[in-house]
Amino acid sequence: MKNNAKIYMDNAATTAVSRDVFESMLPYYQTSFGNPSSVHCFGMQARKAIEDARIRIADALNCAPVELYFTSGATEANNLAVMGTILHAEKKKVVVSCIEHPSILSCCKFLERFGYKVSYIGVDSAGVIDLDAFRREIDANTAIACVMMANNETGVIQPIEEISDISHYYDVPLLADAVQAIGNIPIALNQNKIDFLSITGHKIKAPKGIGVLYAKKGTALRPIIYGGGQERGIRSGTENVPAIVGLSTAVASSVSNISVKRLVLDMKKSILNCINSIPFSYVCGNMSYTLPGIINVCFDYINGSDLVRYLDSFGICVSSASACSSNSSQPSHVLLSMGIPYDRARGALRISINEDNTTDEINCITRILPKAISDLRMMDPEYRRIAGAC
Ligand code: PLP
Repeated sequence: MKNNAKIYMDNAATTAVSRDVFESMLPYYQTSFGNPSSVHCFGMQARKAIEDARIRIADALNCAPVELYFTSGATEANNLAVMGTILHAEKKKVVVSCIEHPSILSCCKFLERFGYKVSYIGVDSAGVIDLDAFRREIDANTAIACVMMANNETGVIQPIEEISDISHYYDVPLLADAVQAIGNIPIALNQNKIDFLSITGHKIKAPKGIGVLYAKKGTALRPIIYGGGQERGIRSGTENVPAIVGLSTAVASSVSNISVKRLVLDMKKSILNCINSIPFSYVCGNMSYTLPGIINVCFDYINGSDLVRYLDSFGICVSSASACSSNSSQPSHVLLSMGIPYDRARGALRISINEDNTTDEINCITRILPKAISDLRMMDPEYRRIAGAC
């Protein structure tokens, strides 16, 4: 049940589990609860549920079921792709966009400590990767390249087709993090040159703690977790059957609803109109190349975390950057890499909506946001001096 007293606009951080997903999972908790590795009928029911879910996801993404490996989420899927490729490769270099999620950038930092070379590719002021730099840095010594399909903080969509053409030319496997893109951008894995693709359930109305890695057939991938040999030896550990089933329901539903984003875009437009009326506000990223549901804006003379707490006191739940960095006092690495000055980036706010939000909720945030900004700015001596209020 949604908490109706609160307005939830932090869907890029996580989403509520949908009723369809929830109901599809229920039989696998108490009725068909077997261990999929057991050979009796309980085990066989669970095994069938997993393999049916794999087929359903493969159909939605246009790939083969054997190309999918279930994981505990996208952090693990990204780690599996990067570490499972590079630790066993002769090549010692990674090429990565500097706006990747920490689940990729932290792998890179770890690898650097062991002598691997990592080339970080910058983005322009609109948040789009520098294709020339990507082309310059990738070479025959590169073990893997990582560029996300769409950024989780700004929603900026990356030119993944050009990127995959370049990596394919150099025969370098490409990992595309599709966590935020799925359900917003069509993904046809049989028609593109992406080698690895990661997805997590909890951004698309499935539970937390379940994800999937696509690894193109023939791509060298080794396990990073060892044990009972589940997932064809690539990801040991007893499978989370209900969550896998829920993930398949969510993937199928998000992919089939891809065209129903009109309403979300209309709501986004109203919020943008409101933001544009607030002085010293700067929308981050080119709105023509962003996901329908994400708005990232910086407000001068505002601390983003203070704003998030203040809006929460009005019942509006948003975030200052990504959920995993919103407790950090440091400005977002994504915004800084777009050339946004440090002080401005400290005033970042991310509003992420989806089709479950209502027009009433949009009216509420557009009414309260200007007041919240104005109240907080009045506490800033520098702003008061500029505004002539002291
Ligand atoms: N990649 C992106 C772009 C994300 O937004 C997130 C979650 O915030 C992840 C990876 C990590 O996913 P998970 O929470 O399933 O580990």
